[in-house]
Amino acid sequence: MCGIVGYNGTKLATNLLLEGLAALEYRGYDSAGVALVEQEKLVELKSVGRVGQLTQLTYKVPHKATAGIGHTRWATHGEVTLANSHPHSSADKTFSVVHNGIIENHHELRLFLEEEGFVVQSHTDSEVIPHLLQYHFK
Ligand code: GLU
Repeated sequence: MCGIVGYNGTKLATNLLLEGLAALEYRGYDSAGVALVEQEKLVELKSVGRVGQLTQLTYKVPHKATAGIGHTRWATHGEVTLANSHPHSSADKTFSVVHNGIIENHHELRLFLEEEGFVVQSHTDSEVIPHLLQYHFK
């Protein structure tokens, strides 16, 4: 079962998110990722495997973010790959999403988005969410 953690505040977010994901590891997962707001830009880091591998990746980015989201994925739709791991973002990088569960009408939503010109990059059902947010936000 997936795990979700989020933080928005005055403290540095990266370690808080990683600690939260580590605490959720017992639920089982196949990949992990975080999205951080670094100087008003979205930075996404993902790894297939353990939260420890994701932690290694975070050493390579600045740690100034005070807001972010994190996810441990238990794949239901799409293979266990980097592309399918969460978070998923909108094309304009305005929205980043982590999701638990299944979107039963994801195929119809994907077709709608493709007709509207969106490129859905992964095979997971979840990726339709950030694109739909971008579409409706505009
Ligand atoms: N259905 C989503 C996926 O396969 C979310 C799975 C989960 O709850 O971790 O990416």
